[in-house]
Amino acid sequence: MRTLITNGTVVNADLSAAADVLIDGEKIVAVGRGLAGSDLAAGAERTVDASGKYVIPGAIDVHTHMELPFGGTFAKDTFETGTRAAAFGGTTSIIDFAVQSKGATLHAGLDTWMAKAQGNACTDYGFHMIISDVNDATLAEMDQLVAEGITDFKLFTAYPGVFLSDDGSIFRAMQQTEKNGGLIMMHAENGLAIDIVAGQLAAAGKTDPYYHGVARYPIFEGEASNRVIRLAEAAHVPVYIVHLSSRDALEEVRAARDRGSMAFAETCPQYLFLSLDDMGNGFNGAKFVCSPPLRPKDHWESLWQGLVKDDLQVVSTDHCPFDFETQKQLGVGDFRKVPNGLPGVEDRVDLLHDGGVVGGRITRERWVEIVSAAPARMFGLSGVKGVVAPGADADIVIYDPARRHTISARTHHMDVDYSCYEGRPVVGGSDIVMSRGRVIVEDGDWKGEKGWGKFMKRRTAREYLV
Ligand SMILES: [Zn+2]
Repeated sequence: MRTLITNGTVVNADLSAAADVLIDGEKIVAVGRGLAGSDLAAGAERTVDASGKYVIPGAIDVHTHMELPFGGTFAKDTFETGTRAAAFGGTTSIIDFAVQSKGATLHAGLDTWMAKAQGNACTDYGFHMIISDVNDATLAEMDQLVAEGITDFKLFTAYPGVFLSDDGSIFRAMQQTEKNGGLIMMHAENGLAIDIVAGQLAAAGKTDPYYHGVARYPIFEGEASNRVIRLAEAAHVPVYIVHLSSRDALEEVRAARDRGSMAFAETCPQYLFLSLDDMGNGFNGAKFVCSPPLRPKDHWESLWQGLVKDDLQVVSTDHCPFDFETQKQLGVGDFRKVPNGLPGVEDRVDLLHDGGVVGGRITRERWVEIVSAAPARMFGLSGVKGVVAPGADADIVIYDPARRHTISARTHHMDVDYSCYEGRPVVGGSDIVMSRGRVIVEDGDWKGEKGWGKFMKRRTAREYLV
């Protein structure tokens, strides 16, 4: 199948240009002016007129949790429903987190997550590995995983008794990635200190979801970010702070980068568009319970500055949806029992277009960079994903920068009963979404297929980071 996209504006991270795009099978084979009518494009079965539209690389969400077990329940979206919803929002690849259970091998966890995704995912997918136990056996397994295309490892300074690793364990894992070229991703909040404050609030009868946001001080994120960055400096490895939410943590990343250290970070739409205020209103605030929590609004400007100045390189979602009417109710009477996480995989690209590009904060090229090109570069997919160029996979979104819609749980495709952005109008939306050359969404209609998505065996990102 050969497809020609004509008359659009190709927007890559480094350059926008009026150009046609020729796709053959699963790959982009040519990008340039005047391909229509050329010998190269002769015999194309389909021509798509993209006049007035952007032709962008399919977005990549490097932080999702499909079917994650958490707090006695499971994140609601499966790999099928989650990747389908992602595609409606212009995201054509996800990198999810496989979880090592305490006492089990890394591979056992990976096998479990592979089985969830294989034959179900509608778009391409990869995995990071969450390490719950750092020991001689798991350290050796890290090298094997890197060879198998799982090239990054996530550790936590939060969730004592569940995921928390002590500083020595974190340092050992960093030393191992110094040897195998992998990347350490860190959930950086001081979970031990947070639990003290949370316990004190609960004991004082402050049990509403709002106090989840109060207990997890921004300074606890700043402290943990500095600590793990310093450990990474000592181990001479890059470190990537996930879901950075606060000015306090950003200041630590910026200071580290200014002194030349290999510190990187992502933020998420909820930290750019939602605030601690959303967590008020009684138990309704449970819809917005995630960790780190939503921050006071005065953090927004700092995070946007971080995106503009590249102290933040990526925006991902931390998509981890739980139904409000059932699952979130586990936390009635105690905010510590609300399942942590919120939906977002479908909304990221449009929110950042609307709030970022239309809002005049970032250029359209920077928008493509933070949702697609930088994720590809940092997570070992350079040249394959994240770019509209010959040789790359034909993961392409024909994006209408003038399309308008209103975000709502009634119309979204995520399998969850509420939206954090209910009623918010956005400018910009995907007209056609292609995954490896195949149209999977067209004008709001699903054309894709369960099981179409392939596992992405990723290279190490080290060569691009240093
Ligand atoms: Zn997460």
